[in-house]
Amino acid sequence: MNSETTEEKAVTKSIKVAVLPGDGIGPEVMAQAIEVLNAACQGIDLQFTERLVGGAAIDATGKALPEETLETCSASDAILFGSVGGPKWESLPPNEQPERAALLPLRKHFSLFANLRPAICFPELTAASPLRPDIVAGGFDILCIRELTGGLYFGKPKETREEKGEKVAIDTMVYRASEIERIARLAFEIAGARKRQLTSVDKMNVLENGLLWRSVVKQLAGSYPDVELSHLLVDNAAMQFIRNPRAFDVVVTENTFGDILSDELAMLTGSIGMLPSASLGTGQRGPYRFGLYEPSGGSAPDIAGKGIANPIAQILSAAMMLQYSFGLDAIAKNIDAAVRKTIAAGYRTRDIDSPDCKLVGTAEMGAAIRENLS
Ligand code: NAD
Repeated sequence: MNSETTEEKAVTKSIKVAVLPGDGIGPEVMAQAIEVLNAACQGIDLQFTERLVGGAAIDATGKALPEETLETCSASDAILFGSVGGPKWESLPPNEQPERAALLPLRKHFSLFANLRPAICFPELTAASPLRPDIVAGGFDILCIRELTGGLYFGKPKETREEKGEKVAIDTMVYRASEIERIARLAFEIAGARKRQLTSVDKMNVLENGLLWRSVVKQLAGSYPDVELSHLLVDNAAMQFIRNPRAFDVVVTENTFGDILSDELAMLTGSIGMLPSASLGTGQRGPYRFGLYEPSGGSAPDIAGKGIANPIAQILSAAMMLQYSFGLDAIAKNIDAAVRKTIAAGYRTRDIDSPDCKLVGTAEMGAAIRENLS
């Protein structure tokens, strides 16, 4: 980074990042993300501490989330996570499996209540989208913000019981107004820094939760007059994303709907190796907002160790960390622009390859992105 802006000068204290590469392609793509961060953040005191997580941690210590790893995360300003899991650990009991025993406890421990999943379809990669070319021409960039700690997945009672001689399964959907306000406030703030267009998704025609969701979001809209707010029922949202993804910018929704819609949006881009994600917590560490940043995809055991994984999801996750945890927006934009330039110049890993492009491996893609930093 050559031109130091006011916002970068404002970062005076050192920034501590817990680096958890994990399993499969995790370490390969993480190495590229760290190199891009080092190249882009010159003059900023970024301190990385690498720790074991997932299957690698089970092999070394017997636990998917060892104490030492959790302690390092607690002492850090953010977590940069790779991915965990793979066939080697699939026969373990469900509660000991890498994702369940590492990622879920981390989300819980740090109260990561907001999941941000950008669904970016680059103009040069629209052919990867399963949608018709005329629908995705020019690409799209939608940010799906999902509430992550409330709703149907956590409400009590949650059980299967016996009633009149048959099994009955019960899940309970609960949202407090304060939980809705917290995620909606974040969504308005993020929308205000993008195209000022926010779509709130609910099911107010059927669910009490939907009624409360809509009324809280509507009430909050008064505090953000520059953001244009619209509401969609979840079934309609699922259709409209396919009909015209370019009409959307920021989407906010509750946990279950967000789980499904964020995957639908990811699929519309057609390239999982390109998609980053952020899970933001309630914790504020001095000037920094705590968060966990990771690719949307998994550990891709089918291509691990071959040097062919796409590092872009991990690199863009690192850029999201700079933006959302450390307020280093200009550097995050620089990384984003370098990725776009590299794609525009025809560099492709195997997952996004197309005729007449330059097929490269993980390390070459990382190097090309570093060269395209301004
Ligand atoms: P996956 O995302 O790992 O792989 C699905 C497909 O996408 C594979 O063909 C893979 O090669 C490809 N892919 C994914 N990321 C890629 C990249 N960066 N570059 C190129 N291709 C890429 O999903 P899966 O196969 O269902 O799961 C594999 C393992 O990952 C499982 O053990 C699963 O539990 C775990 N997983 C972990 C996380 C996480 O750590 N957050 C998330 C999802 C899955």
